[in-house]
Amino acid sequence: MNLSHLVVHLQPCSITKMPDTESHRSNDLSISGPTLNSGWGRTPKSLGKTLQIKGGDTREKEVELLEFITSNDTSIKIAPRGLGRSYGDSSILSSGLLTDPNQWKDTFDFNSSKGTLRVSSGFSLDEIMRKLVPQGYFVPVTPGTRYVTIGGAVAADIHGKNHHVDGSFTDHTNELRVVSPTGVHVLKRSDPEFKATAGGMGLTGLVSEAVIDLIPISTSKMKVTTRVTQNIDDTILELEENDTKYRYSVAWIDCMAKGRSLGRSVITWGEHLDVSEFTGEGGPCSFDPRFLTSVPDIAPSWLLNRLSVRAFNELWYQKGKLSNEISIESIETFFHPLDMVGSWNRLYGQKGFLQYQFVVPFGAEDTLKETVRLLSNVKVPSFLAVLKRFGKGSGNYLSFPSPGWTLALDIPTHRFGLADLLDRLDSMVVASGGRVYLAKDSRVSKHLIPMMYPEIESFREVAHRLDPDNIFTTDMSRRLALRVDEL
Ligand SMILES: Cc1cc2nc3c(=O)[nH]c(=O)nc-3n(C[C@H](O)[C@H](O)[C@H](O)COP(=O)(O)OP(=O)(O)OC[C@H]3O[C@@H](n4cnc5c(N)ncnc54)[C@H](O)[C@@H]3O)c2cc1C
Repeated sequence: MNLSHLVVHLQPCSITKMPDTESHRSNDLSISGPTLNSGWGRTPKSLGKTLQIKGGDTREKEVELLEFITSNDTSIKIAPRGLGRSYGDSSILSSGLLTDPNQWKDTFDFNSSKGTLRVSSGFSLDEIMRKLVPQGYFVPVTPGTRYVTIGGAVAADIHGKNHHVDGSFTDHTNELRVVSPTGVHVLKRSDPEFKATAGGMGLTGLVSEAVIDLIPISTSKMKVTTRVTQNIDDTILELEENDTKYRYSVAWIDCMAKGRSLGRSVITWGEHLDVSEFTGEGGPCSFDPRFLTSVPDIAPSWLLNRLSVRAFNELWYQKGKLSNEISIESIETFFHPLDMVGSWNRLYGQKGFLQYQFVVPFGAEDTLKETVRLLSNVKVPSFLAVLKRFGKGSGNYLSFPSPGWTLALDIPTHRFGLADLLDRLDSMVVASGGRVYLAKDSRVSKHLIPMMYPEIESFREVAHRLDPDNIFTTDMSRRLALRVDEL
C-alpha cells in the first residue's frame, strides 16, 4: 500500500463501549440525539445520533475525529452527512453516528491568481456562490440545488447541466483530505483512494477539505435559448444537434403527455453572459438569490396527483412555447428554480417520494423511449422530469455519469405498482449497459450493483484498505452491500 498520502496515522488504542450521549463527552466532542433522519425524499427514515466536533480548526478536528474512531469499539459505525439532499438512504444510518456538516466550515482559501478554492467540506455551494460570484467566479459544476455541501458533492461526484462539456464535480477537484480509520489522507486525482472517495458515497471516510477549480465569469447572468419539442424523437434530435453549441443544456419532459405528444419537452441551453452584453441594473456580478416561500409540513400525500401535475405540466409547456427563444436569466432561475421554495419536498406529504434517475449509453435510444412510454402509460404524476446527455465519465469507481442519456424523475412512493414498474425499468437499463444513480436511490436490488457498477470490486478493495473494520457505512451501503464486509 502506498502511504505517501498519509499525513496522520494513529494506532488503534484501547477498546471501550459504544459511546452514548452521556458517556462520551470531551471538551470538543459530543454526541447528541437520537433523531429521526431521512434523505430529501423523506423515506426511508432511521434513528441515528449526531457526532459533534466543535473546537479548533479543520486540522485539529481531523485529529479529534481520528482519535475518537481509533479509541472506540469497532462496532461504532459512522455515516458522513451533508445537507441531506440525496434522496434515499445514502446519508442515514440506523443505530449509528452521523457527522454534522456545520462543524466542517473552517477553511475557505480562495486563490484569485489560480482561480482555485481550498474549502472545508461542510460549506454549501450556496455559501460558496454568495462569496465568490460577486468576485467573478462560479463553481465548476452545480446540481439542481445550491444546498449541497462540498462533502456531498464529492461523495456523489455530482453532475450538472454542463456534464457533456465539463464532466462531473471531481473532474475539477485537485485534492481531497479524508479522515478514515487508518489516518488522515491527502489524495490526488490519480490515487486509487481518490477514485474510491470521489463518488464513493461517504464510505471511505469523512472528506474534511477539498481543493477545487472555479470558473471565471464576467456577469452573474445566463444567456438562455429555449425551444419546445413536439415529442421524444424531436427532443432527442434537438439535443443531439445542438448540445455541442452550448455549455449548459437540459430538457424538461412532460411525463403526462401521451400518444403523438409522448416525450414533448421544453429544452433550455445556456451560456454565462459576457459583460459586453450586460445591460441590467446593479453590478454585473451581483448575486442575491430570492427566496419566495416555504412549504409547511401539513401537505397531504395526494396534493401532487395526476390532475394537479397534468395542469402544472400543461402550463409549463405552454409557458415554454410563449418564451422568447433567447432570454437573459439570473443564475438562480436558470440553475436552481426549486431553491426559491423552501422544503418543497413536503409537497409530497409524509409518505414521501423517490427520484428515479438512470443513464443508458448512446445507441440505447429505444430503451430511453420505452422507459418514457412506460412511465407515461402508468400516468406517474411527475412535475420534475429531466433529460440530459452526459459526456465522458470521470473514471472514479462508483461515479454515476457515463456517456449517454440520463433521465431523472420524481415519483410519489405511494403509487400502486410502482415497485414492479421500477424493477422492470432497472432490468431494461442494465440490459442496455446503464445504471441508476446511487445519490437518488432507495430501492434498487443489490444483485444489480455489479452489473451497473463494474468497478465495485476495486472500490471495495480500496475502501477496505482505508477502513478495515468497516466503521464508515450507511443504510444504503448495508442494503446494497457496497462494503466488502456487508456482502
Ligand atoms: C432538488 C435537487 C436537485 C438535485 N440535482 C442534482 C443534479 O442535477 N445532479 C446531481 O448529481 N445531483 C443532484 N441532486 C442530488 C445531490 O446533488 C446529491 O445527493 C448530493 O450528494 C447532496 O449533497 P448533501 O450535502 O446534501 O449530502 P447528503 O445528501 O447529506 O449525503 C450524500 C452522500 O454524501 C456523503 N457525504 C456527505 N458529506 C460527506 C463528507 N464530508 N465526506 C464524505 N462523504 C460525505 C454521504 O455519506 C452520502 O453518501 C439533487 C438533489 C436535489 C434535492
